[in-house]
This record gives sequence, C-alpha cells and structure tokens, in this order.
Amino acid sequence: MNYYDDQTYAFFDGAYSKVSEIRIDPFSQSLHYGNSIFEGLRAYKTSNGIGIFKARKHFERMAEAAARLGVALPYPIDELIQTSYRLLEINGLQDAYIRPLLYPGANMSLSATPESHLLILTWKWGRLLGDSCVNLTVSDVRLPDANFIEAKVSGRYVHSVMATTAARARGFNDAIMLDSRGHVCGAAGANLFIEKNEVLLTPARGNILPGITRQTVLELAKDMGIQTIEKDLDPSELAQADAAFLAGTAVEITGVESIDGRTMPTPWTDSIGYMINRQYKKLVTNSNAHEWTLI
Ligand code: PMP
Repeated sequence: MNYYDDQTYAFFDGAYSKVSEIRIDPFSQSLHYGNSIFEGLRAYKTSNGIGIFKARKHFERMAEAAARLGVALPYPIDELIQTSYRLLEINGLQDAYIRPLLYPGANMSLSATPESHLLILTWKWGRLLGDSCVNLTVSDVRLPDANFIEAKVSGRYVHSVMATTAARARGFNDAIMLDSRGHVCGAAGANLFIEKNEVLLTPARGNILPGITRQTVLELAKDMGIQTIEKDLDPSELAQADAAFLAGTAVEITGVESIDGRTMPTPWTDSIGYMINRQYKKLVTNSNAHEWTLI
C-alpha cells in the first residue's frame, strides 16, 4: 500500500513537512529498542464537518504511556488535537486514519533520554481486517506482563506481528493472543468480545490494551440494555461462544466468523455485535459525538 505521495504532509517536530522530506535519526533509541509510543485515531465525515472520534482520550492515553516510559511529550493535548485537524485539512482528508508517533531521540544506552520527537501521519485507510467477518486462531505467541500490555508501546507489537503473520500463513485473518497466565487478551490489534446467552463478555482490564472502542461498546451496550461482563476469559470459553466480534479504531467493529475452525452458531446479522455495530456507526458519524469538528 502507498501511504503517501509527493504532496503528502506530516506534522514533524513542530512543523508541517512533506513526508518525503522527513529525516529520522538512525540513532533514535526506539528504532533499536522499540520504546516509542503510538496512537491510532479515526476521523469521520459527519453532517457537521469532520470529527476525530474521542481524540482527547487517544492523546491522554499517549500522554500516560509517555510518562510511564519517561519519554517527553512537549505538547499540550489541545494542541495535538488541533494539529491533527489541521493536518487532515492540509492533506485534503475526510474519512481517514491518524497515527501520532512519539519517539526518543538519539541514544544507544538503555536509559530514558530527555530528547523526543513527535510525528503525526494521516492516510486513507479502510477497516484493518476488511469489511467481512473474520476467521481467527488462538496464537501460541504469548504476551508478556500487564504493565507492558496496557500501554501502546511499539515494542509490544512485535508479538502481534509474529502472531498475525503465523495466523495468515495458516489461512486465518488474524490471531487471538493470550497472556502469560493463559488468559485471553484480545486480537493482535483489537479487543475481543464474545456473546453467550445474550450476554457480552470481554477480558477484564489488567491484561489487555484498554481500547477506546471497547469502552464505547460497553457504554453502547449499557444504553441498549445489554448485560456486559468484564472478566478473565479462558480460551475454552471461546469454543462455547454463540458469537464474537472485534473492537478497535483500526478494525472498528468487525464480526467473527469462526475461531480455530469452529463457526459461530449465531449468524453475524442476528448477533448483538451486529446491533452494536449499527449504533457505533451512527455514533462516530454524529457530529454531537465529537468535541470539535473541522468544517
Ligand atoms: N488492543 C490492541 C492490542 C490494540 O492494538 C488496539 C488498537 N489500538 C486495541 C486493542 C483497540 O484500541 P482502540 O479502540 O483504542 O483503538
């Protein structure tokens, strides 16, 4: 996929620059050790302009991860939001994906470095796993401890890339990942919900990346009178599920067709996930759901 051309701009260290002219330091600590922090946001065209869904929550999560890793984030959150809108405008994008990346400067030692760089990229991106329901497999690549799993740190995604690559080689669309205790975390880049007897179950916080879409799904379910349970989920429960879906900014709400060859007994269009998906689409394209919009 071509992410940019000669006319594509990024925000890089305080200025809007052509992506093709940006130079990244080969001695950047994160290039070697994986300690950069990223976010993934989506902008949607609404009846009242373009809205970036829950922009503040995404940048707050980035700020928390930066503090945890000792990487400086030298911009107030309001400015990061404003910059993202401006970049969409410069690149002429409406429905689009936004990828901020905060990474430490040149430092070959293993201790945190005060210098950091901020890059924001935007591009047009369909749903990460496509528009159809997906076939998943439980990966044998285990995620390490919760501290690491809870922040959107680049190095954490080594496990996701390994798991997804192995799953694709076996004909699946994506992988379900377990933590070191053997509990379900979610998919390689999204949270997982299963449905059992009209109740939605999802792995509890502590061993998951606490997704902003996951939280939105929990809130929508509450509004719709659907019972939800957040708990440690055992892989055996996946094999008993009536239906399942993934939730994340990149995948949005994606239905699950099968897990390890077992087709979900409830068809997607009859599932709770399908109803949630309809509400989710309404929400993200509703201008009232956005703090700011770009006309
Ligand atoms: N889990 C993982 C491992 C992810 O990479 C993502 C995507 N950021 C999510 C869950 C979903 O998070 P969000 O809904 O905030 O995009």
